[in-house]
Amino acid sequence: ETPLLEVRNLQKSFTVKKGFFGNAKQLRAVDGISFAIQKGETFSLVGESGCGKSTTGRLVTRLLTPNAGEVIFNGQDISGYNDNQMRPLRKDMQMVFQDPYASLNPRMKVKELVAEPLLIHTKMSTKERDKLACELLETVGLNSFHAERFAHEFSGGQRQRIGIARALSVRPNLIVADEPVSALDVSIQSQVLNLLQDLQEEYGLTYLFISHDLSVVEHISDRIGVMYLGTLVETADKDTLYDRPLHPYTQALLSSVPVPDPKQKKERIILKGDLPSPVNPPTGCRFHTRCPSCMEVCKQVTPVYREVEPGHQVACHLYDEEIMKHV
Ligand code: SF4
Ligand code: MG
Repeated sequence: ETPLLEVRNLQKSFTVKKGFFGNAKQLRAVDGISFAIQKGETFSLVGESGCGKSTTGRLVTRLLTPNAGEVIFNGQDISGYNDNQMRPLRKDMQMVFQDPYASLNPRMKVKELVAEPLLIHTKMSTKERDKLACELLETVGLNSFHAERFAHEFSGGQRQRIGIARALSVRPNLIVADEPVSALDVSIQSQVLNLLQDLQEEYGLTYLFISHDLSVVEHISDRIGVMYLGTLVETADKDTLYDRPLHPYTQALLSSVPVPDPKQKKERIILKGDLPSPVNPPTGCRFHTRCPSCMEVCKQVTPVYREVEPGHQVACHLYDEEIMKHV
């Protein structure tokens, strides 16, 4: 089956200045990643802040233009589309952002916030938009009488529901949710995650879910990709990733995820050193400066991201028989 979204060797650099007299340098935010998301699936990108996951979300929705690589949405390569070419596709791909406080205009009534994408993408009358906004508010667990209020009158969790109703209004196929619950209390997080799952079933939505926290994505994900300094280091279906993580970075991230049964608790792996700058990433394996299993070869040779078993990709020399023969 054709994936709803496929990215191939996607790359995005930003020009940054190092210091007052410094030369302009390239920050390789996303450095050659590939993945595909099937219709109705939830694919999560996980990694520390600065690993390129938010940039990836903005590249696939074409809020940013890639330097190289392909973004294939519904069979069309949209990586070079201009605004005019993107316009008819915009309603098929909506974003939900982390901070519902910042992303909602405080001067707009809730009904206007929810219906704004309809104003942009459809020819509906105000009356039709208001009616749909009220229905959408009920769909996301709010009440239609909330429609006349302003966003600041709502709690964080309610505001995120408003953000979700807004994204849903144009009936998208793909929703890119960038840290959608990170600003919320843990108890509210699970309510919003449950809502997203219910809506996925009801509307057949496909999610690209972005999070720094592996414990947040466990229940919602079908597959998970782990990013480090602009590259994907491991991708697998959820169960495989949690039960048998292969990459030392994934293992370290998972070792800090709380488990309900204390007997299953694995020893916490503390990574040495800080996250290196993406302006000057380490040679060889980018993770080698912090990897507990680092070998000499890792400092020189970049590991190839490849499939080690069906549906399970990893970029690490430990799983490369040819390399391991020689160490
Ligand atoms: Fe660690 Fe080497 Fe694997 Fe990189 S390639 S994750 S440094 S063992
Ligand atoms: Mg981010």
